[in-house]
Amino acid sequence: MTAQLIDGNALAKQVRAQVAGRTQALKARGIVPKLAIIMVGDDPASAVYTRHKVNDSTETGLEATLERFPATLPEAQLLARIDALNRDGTVHGILVQLPLPRHMDSQKVISAISPGKDVDGFHVANAGALMVGQPGFWPCTPFGCMKMIESIGYPLRGKNAVVIGRSNIVGKPMAMMLLQQSATVTICHSATADLKSHTLQADVIVAAVGKRNVLSADMVKPGAVVIDVGMNRDDQGKLCGDVDFASVREVAGWITPVPGGVGPMTRAMLLANTLTAAERAGGQQPA
Ligand code: NAP
Repeated sequence: MTAQLIDGNALAKQVRAQVAGRTQALKARGIVPKLAIIMVGDDPASAVYTRHKVNDSTETGLEATLERFPATLPEAQLLARIDALNRDGTVHGILVQLPLPRHMDSQKVISAISPGKDVDGFHVANAGALMVGQPGFWPCTPFGCMKMIESIGYPLRGKNAVVIGRSNIVGKPMAMMLLQQSATVTICHSATADLKSHTLQADVIVAAVGKRNVLSADMVKPGAVVIDVGMNRDDQGKLCGDVDFASVREVAGWITPVPGGVGPMTRAMLLANTLTAAERAGGQQPA
């Protein structure tokens, strides 16, 4: 069997088109959805990511600002700036690009963002909302993964799902979202004794580790849905995921490529979250 590809670029294009349409409707009511991005320091990868976020926003009709501060910025000044953005009624989403310099406490900084503007979905209030099934903001990467599974019309109810990785921004929220759809969820991590024994039982596998070839064909049940979140470099320096794509695609039923899979969906879901924040601020029920 050769797996069907879940095309993240194509799906992200659809999400962006929906966001653009809803943005126009909001603008017609005099509300311009606005995302404020803060970057501290000069990490080259962060510079690329934040530029993408600004360009994605403006291409979709949203407004976006990028404020860059030196790595030496005192934490108190960053908190003061977030406080000002929290109070600014024209700003609907606030995103602080991680990682932050070592002298800053990331959790404290994220906690300073108003939960209603936390479009990354990293605030504990939003993590808690996801846990108890209340409206909030879902972290963009697992949210995008869910959209990808939804796009193939795959019924999660009663299926076995294995999430490899337990980070606060990917693995744990991913597991909660799958659970919300009534999958039976197992979370694996670096101390998992026999990863293969778990993945072989799985109808859905989400790999979010950050190591090449964590998942090989012998670890996958025929027909499984395989979502590859990982972003790594191969020996030639090319972007690759956590999954041994060439072999796993011969066993799986569906698979996401890297690049062109979860990455573009993550970017698209940030736009969707920002728009939702603006709709909520405007007293509108998000679509
Ligand atoms: P992270 O915070 O480093 O978490 C990695 C997780 O993998 C940890 O829970 C770790 O377990 C687990 N792990 C490590 N080695 C393992 C092994 N051999 N077997 C099973 N589990 C293992 O990373 P993250 O932020 O969640 O990101 C994961 C990957 O996704 C990275 O490659 C990142 O670049 C990528 N990513 C991609 C996107 C995108 O848009 N495409 C977005 C976010 C992240 P312990 O908890 O026990 O240490």
